[in-house]
Amino acid sequence: MAQFKYSAFLHEARVPAFDRDWQPGQVVANGGIYRCKTCGDETVVAKNAALPMNHHRHDLRGPVVWQMIVFAQQRP
Ligand SMILES: [Zn+2]
Repeated sequence: MAQFKYSAFLHEARVPAFDRDWQPGQVVANGGIYRCKTCGDETVVAKNAALPMNHHRHDLRGPVVWQMIVFAQQRP
């Protein structure tokens, strides 16, 4: 589970970007922390970079499906 110390640096945002499923290898629009919905493993992906193809494997639990849980707010 993603962790933090200073809550002043995180802001709850109820936006649809957090509800999308991402497949391994897809290029993400937001750089941040992504969590596997099947096993809870996490990774960091830069803006406009691809999610890892072989980050981890599941045996019988199902496919790797990523969900963004935190994104970095960048200046325009
Ligand atoms: Zn997983």
